[in-house]
Amino acid sequence: MTASLENQAAEFQSQIMTSDASVVCVAVPVRVDAGLQYLCDRSPPPPVGGRVVVTVGRKQHIGVVLEHVPEGAVTAAKLKPVLEILDETPVIDAPLLAMLSWCATYYHHPIGDVVVAALPALLRRGRPAQPDLEYAWTLTAAGRAIDLTALARRASRQARIIEALTDEPHVAETALRARGHTRAELVKLAERGWLERHELAPGPPVPPRHGGSNEPTLSPDQAEALAALDAAGPGFGASLLHGVTGSGKTEVYMRLIGERLRRGRQALLLVPEISLTPQLVARLRERFGRQLAVMHSALTDAERLRAWQACRSGDAGLIVGTRSAVFAPLPHPGLIVVDEEHDASFKQGDGFRYSARDLAVYRAQQLDIPIVLGSATPSLESYYNASRRRYRLLQLPRRIGSAGTPRVRVIDLGRHAAHDGLSTPMVEAITGHLAAGQQIMLFLNRRGFAPALFCMECCRAEECNRCDARMTVHATRGKLRCHHCGAGHALAWGCPHCGAERIAVGAGTQRVGEALRALFPAARIGRLDRDATSRRGSLEAVLADVAAGSIDVLVGTQMLAKGHDFPNVTLVGVLNADQGLFGTDFRSNERLAQTIVQVSGRAGRADRPGEVLIQSHYPGHPLFGYLKEQDYSAFAAEALAEREAARWPPFSHLVVIRAEATERQPVFAFLDRIADAARAQRSEAAVHGPAPAAMERRGGRHRAQVLLQSPRRGPLHSLVDALKPDIRSWPESRRVRWSIDVDPLEL
Ligand code: ADP
Ligand code: ZN
Repeated sequence: MTASLENQAAEFQSQIMTSDASVVCVAVPVRVDAGLQYLCDRSPPPPVGGRVVVTVGRKQHIGVVLEHVPEGAVTAAKLKPVLEILDETPVIDAPLLAMLSWCATYYHHPIGDVVVAALPALLRRGRPAQPDLEYAWTLTAAGRAIDLTALARRASRQARIIEALTDEPHVAETALRARGHTRAELVKLAERGWLERHELAPGPPVPPRHGGSNEPTLSPDQAEALAALDAAGPGFGASLLHGVTGSGKTEVYMRLIGERLRRGRQALLLVPEISLTPQLVARLRERFGRQLAVMHSALTDAERLRAWQACRSGDAGLIVGTRSAVFAPLPHPGLIVVDEEHDASFKQGDGFRYSARDLAVYRAQQLDIPIVLGSATPSLESYYNASRRRYRLLQLPRRIGSAGTPRVRVIDLGRHAAHDGLSTPMVEAITGHLAAGQQIMLFLNRRGFAPALFCMECCRAEECNRCDARMTVHATRGKLRCHHCGAGHALAWGCPHCGAERIAVGAGTQRVGEALRALFPAARIGRLDRDATSRRGSLEAVLADVAAGSIDVLVGTQMLAKGHDFPNVTLVGVLNADQGLFGTDFRSNERLAQTIVQVSGRAGRADRPGEVLIQSHYPGHPLFGYLKEQDYSAFAAEALAEREAARWPPFSHLVVIRAEATERQPVFAFLDRIADAARAQRSEAAVHGPAPAAMERRGGRHRAQVLLQSPRRGPLHSLVDALKPDIRSWPESRRVRWSIDVDPLEL
């Protein structure tokens, strides 16, 4: 601050001290890191955590008050006023607000955007935070004295309202509106002194908390895990529940949740994707009934607001939600559970790039409540934390029931060529399981008909002209489509260069589906991928068909790996395991192992033994050894040793600064400057790059990145803090789109 500004600020402060005015710091959803100060002359001032209307430039925004600025900390002489106070009580309580402020610092993201992530859309747009009150209307004495016949001649609509109220002492406003009357009409009659409005009691009372019913007897493994969790007490403690698929993890969560509910506390259960696991929500609802609130992206804005209100009022005892539910209000916190904690969907991929799994741990610590991270395939980070005893490791190594673990075999594609994605041993196995009346799941992480349209004469595959990627053949629609930018056009078989007839190379889920229909005309074939489930409700329909047994073979992508529980599935085929074996990312192996173990887990539940067949060109790859032994822990230990040798997370920490633009030059000019500036800081953190992204051009934009890496987090964050203000002032930064990703999942 310059001296004259300081003088002005001091003068200004003496002014506000003598008036009722106060200064508030507000998180406004604009691209500034810190909150902005505003003057508020109303008393009482808006509460910390409450919403206010303010302007930035000429534009009005709804922001959230971060703090009442103490005397001496006012930074400008002239402050704009708070235009409107929207809340008398906070919509974000103090602990959550503290966590959001921490997030803004840790993820180097503007506080206004971070705070917005914690609020349902309708609250961001200014809707009242309290649930709508129900109103009823009655006639006043003056209203009852009206000459109805006379009124009917002048104003028949008004007369009808009076008439309706003459018959009944109270009529709910919703009932009057249903008869075509408007709120404005009612208010007008009230102004004349004829009507009176009063509040109706709120909706049906919420039933008292209960811990659930119909609990099965615990297996010895479950009982042991629960005893350990019980012994740990109600305060903060993080546990990793590593249980093979079907070992009863969900039952353990439900027991813990039930116990917290009985004590009047709330439990938050984070799940990767609710639409893929309708069975889970159904199970929870059956056990906990109306205490359950669900929060996910497919809700309407109004449904979201209602779920949020139920959390905030404490009516919701159990909140089940996806990523952003980690910010749900929890006035009576008791427990957090993160199911499938390894799942990549817990990390937000753009904008405010937070990890809901990591924040859940932070929040549990802050609220001093236990957290359980559960998975059949824990992330290496969590596994490492457990091995270092930062997390308590609880194991459920056996399945419930007598099915036992499935038998895993690897088919050598070098010896058994695959036609349309299916090798002969795979076809034989399918034949056998179909004959036994059992269901089959085939996993192939590639949708569409074929991943390439190839000309044998020119040895060229058709590429997307906006991406460094091949176009995928979608033969059912006679189209070529790019899976990276969505571009598409009609498929022409003739090569544009030499005119030769081109061929569709490789197999996607559509092609495998067609091949199966030809091979097994009597079998019912289903498909589970983004193309087959794009219509609302179609996903649920496919899952219901499998559950009902009206699909014999289900071919699908990653979607198959989620926690479906289909007891009649006895064969799982992994049609192409090789995509992930030699991936460029340091997490490729981890992802592949997780996916294969998860899809394998669909085989043989209840009391039917399962079989898993994996097709690969590299049957000797060590990864398959662990998979055959069903030993994820041994895999994790080995993979961690490799990470340690290569100094990858969790043995170091990463921040990626990414940039993209339609031209290549500005991207590298910008990142070169960042890398130079970073190196000039002589930080303990290493600076790598700039390097092109794994797919350099995507959607017509060139993409590259600088990687910052350090064994300790501190120097990494100091480095970013030192760079950030400078970066904003560079002209280079205005020619690119750039972002900071802390703890990136992909490089
Ligand atoms: P996970 O979450 O580890 O995949 P679940 O909790 O879904 O496992 O359990 C798998 C199946 O076993 C479910 O059908 C569940 O109802 C059943 N189950 C779980 N625990 C028990 C138990 N103690 N006794 C009987 N059945 C159980
Ligand atoms: Zn493309």
